[in-house]
Amino acid sequence: MLDLVVVGAGIAGLIAGNRAAELGCRVTVLEAGTDRYLCNSRIATGSLNFAHSNPELPPAQLIDAINADTEGHADPALAAAIAAVAGRGLRWLKDNGAQFVRQEMQGKMSWMLAPPRSLVPGLDWRGRGADVLLDVLAERLKARGGELMTGTSAQSLLVKEGHVCGVSAQTSGKTVSIDARNVVLADGGFQGNAKMVGRYICARPEKLVQRSAGTGLGDGIRMASEIGARLVDMNRFYGHLLSRAAFQNASLWPYPTLDSMTNGSILVGSDGNRLFDEGLGGITLSNLIAEMDDPTSTWIIFDEEIWTTTGYDEVVPANPHLIEAGGTVISAKTIEELAAKAGLPAGPLASTVAAYNNAVESGRGDQLVPPRSLGRRFGVIRNATERVPVRPVRRAPFYAAPLAVGITCTMGGLAIDVNARVIREDGKPIPGLYAAGQTSAGLEGGPIAGYIGGLAKSYCTALLAAEAIAAGQDGRLS
Ligand SMILES: Cc1cc2nc3c(=O)[nH]c(=O)nc-3n(C[C@H](O)[C@H](O)[C@H](O)COP(=O)(O)OP(=O)(O)OC[C@H]3O[C@@H](n4cnc5c(N)ncnc54)[C@H](O)[C@@H]3O)c2cc1C
Repeated sequence: MLDLVVVGAGIAGLIAGNRAAELGCRVTVLEAGTDRYLCNSRIATGSLNFAHSNPELPPAQLIDAINADTEGHADPALAAAIAAVAGRGLRWLKDNGAQFVRQEMQGKMSWMLAPPRSLVPGLDWRGRGADVLLDVLAERLKARGGELMTGTSAQSLLVKEGHVCGVSAQTSGKTVSIDARNVVLADGGFQGNAKMVGRYICARPEKLVQRSAGTGLGDGIRMASEIGARLVDMNRFYGHLLSRAAFQNASLWPYPTLDSMTNGSILVGSDGNRLFDEGLGGITLSNLIAEMDDPTSTWIIFDEEIWTTTGYDEVVPANPHLIEAGGTVISAKTIEELAAKAGLPAGPLASTVAAYNNAVESGRGDQLVPPRSLGRRFGVIRNATERVPVRPVRRAPFYAAPLAVGITCTMGGLAIDVNARVIREDGKPIPGLYAAGQTSAGLEGGPIAGYIGGLAKSYCTALLAAEAIAAGQDGRLS
């Protein structure tokens, strides 16, 4: 019998499979896709930050970084467990074929999988670091005696006397049972499942741009919840603000993102009024906008000064890429003319801009409704406002760009313990069942939708699961 069957061959699944095989386990990894299957890991940009920090920092500093980014929302024991494995995990990745360069991302030095993607609009993944790493990990799995079964989609968990003992899967039109002492669910979250997104995240999933491979269908979460797993933070996702034209134009996702532009400008709804504190950061704002009745009714308003400063701030800067790639940017000599061209009400928009400018110039963002953070605040928010100066909107021409929210991956999913074992509602682990990567939860989400880095979460939870399985956590390895 297999020691381990892994569901999903993204970075979490392949790392879990490789590490377990390296430690002597008999492993099969199931992957629904075929050939050069797409998944979020393959198309990831490849920036390997751990809560916006270098994974090599001492664990205590990494725990602080997680707490700052999530405002203390992350499960403390789980945060400590992944902080403890982060530096060693980075070395393991390097020893197992991952190539990195050091590159500045959003004002910070970051480990970037090499070769890095080119910083152009649209998707650029073929032959880039994350794509290469998946191929290397698949090869290493085979070299370690493991098997990668592509075209095989896990459907349900096999359970005997309360222990998970394999999966039932569809392959070549047939249903097969794959027996194993342990199962790791690593199928990448549920961002690609509109029904689940509609149930847990927002009422109008069709109004979010799919900024992902679309392969995370929530199968692992469904299978585990059928046998009593606890689900946490299901309402939060990692996403970015995009041009609304990204619905029709593939050159406008995953880049350019408009997070910095929004952080440094005015965000308004179709009534011309402000909606949220623009300094909350793109991930938090994406979550808040997604909750609106119509997430496609928001605009950013800025001026020439912002366009020629903040406009250059992103990885793939909005200026000039947003326009060159076909995004909509309306310009006008006055705010009233801008409102007319954008179809926004002129009076309310002019009042919004005037009140905003007064507050910014007098340093009294707190007097606006909603308030506008002008300086340092907390976590991810602090990162945004530290980096992106807030300027008044005064220098013609004035601009309006229609926004959309891009959903990249869900943050919530299966609650896990410090060994990545899936937890039941009563807090006890389900014997034989583990989760890793975006299917696992407990580290992200909360009121500000705190995000610690999908790749970091994936490799750390995968190593926790594999090492616990190899150590026979359930006392069931032969
Ligand atoms: C455009 C983009 C850029 C990103 N950039 C970064 C970045 O720079 N840094 C960072 O930290 N994170 C980044 N991320 C997020 C990161 O890619 C993810 O957090 C991470 O790859 C998740 O890995 P995973 O293994 O959990 O899921 P995935 O990579 O999605 O893998 C899951 C696999 O499971 C398979 N699967 C699904 N259902 C089944 C089933 N029933 N049976 C069998 N197989 C199944 C899928 O086909 C898929 O191959 C980015 C994401 C995107 C989309």
